[in-house]
Amino acid sequence: MLADGFGRVATDLRISLTDRCNLRCAYCMPPEGLDWLPSPGLLTDDEVVRLARIGVQRLGITEIRYTGGEPLLRRGLTGIVARTAELRPRPEISVTTNGIGLARLAGPLRAAGLDRVNVSLDTLRPETFRELARRDRLGDVLDGMAAAAAAGLRPFKVNAVLMRGLNEDEAPGLLRYCLDRGYELRFIEQMPLDAQHGWRRENMVTAGEILDSLTAHVKLAEADPAERGSAPAETFLVDGGPARVGVIGSVTRPFCGTCDRVRLTADGQIRNCLFARDESNLRDPMRAGASDEELAGLWRRAVAAKLPGHGINDPGFLQPARPMSAIGG
Ligand code: SAM
Repeated sequence: MLADGFGRVATDLRISLTDRCNLRCAYCMPPEGLDWLPSPGLLTDDEVVRLARIGVQRLGITEIRYTGGEPLLRRGLTGIVARTAELRPRPEISVTTNGIGLARLAGPLRAAGLDRVNVSLDTLRPETFRELARRDRLGDVLDGMAAAAAAGLRPFKVNAVLMRGLNEDEAPGLLRYCLDRGYELRFIEQMPLDAQHGWRRENMVTAGEILDSLTAHVKLAEADPAERGSAPAETFLVDGGPARVGVIGSVTRPFCGTCDRVRLTADGQIRNCLFARDESNLRDPMRAGASDEELAGLWRRAVAAKLPGHGINDPGFLQPARPMSAIGG
């Protein structure tokens, strides 16, 4: 088991397959991009699958989510998913993606064993997409979403981040779009994880504001809190249900006490929290010949040291050195 000192057990592994992305979302990356991780330092497909296997077979991981950066840019993604689907006990396998390329890849990924996707969609206005993501790709995202839903990748979740002055008025429109298609929408509060350190608490659109803007259009009722478990989203029934909407209030309504997540970066570092300031290197010992049990031991120690909370609201909070794109969201 991957237990920490506060009674939590990590069972949900987020693996970043690349720090590169084909968008430049303002809450994540500067327009010019970043210095990407050097290729020799990235885990190979075999190394990714070996660590996934150790997680599943020795450490109690039951869910694996591939992310990035943009995971669909990783050439070996379909093969990695297929090999993950062969692990026993079989983990649930999902991908978090901006959707670009899903029109082509949804079918092959489904055939390889992918269970679910989360697609990020922050706006339905092409001009706002161009401004927020700094690329003219809204049509590709919407096509990708439709293809993924048609391929049977369900439940189909959509993540949206609202930014003041850009898309803060879009919550009701995004919800209508998702409800009409049977997608489950979740709004994520913007977190201080952007490479350019541009996050300002006073500019953040809060969970409370998002709920207020939705309730002007629909009736929301809190879903049974007992169903939430370790899920980051607070879920609300829309107009009596069964349709739902979620709000992930990472900053104003933190949920660290029930966190069951652990992250592996594309260069093989274990992070026990998105906001951790320390990482544990599995790549170098693995390349130096460490056994599965030795790697599992390093991993257990990394999770055991997890702090009780992310500390964003503490006066001494320091943003982690790595931005979200290099951690794996
Ligand atoms: N490229 C993929 C995508 O767009 O979904 C996967 C990686 S992305 C880092 C994962 C999620 O993190 C996306 O839903 C994105 O909106 C969210 N995200 C990125 N930076 C964020 C920030 N500063 N605050 C909150 N969410 C953020």
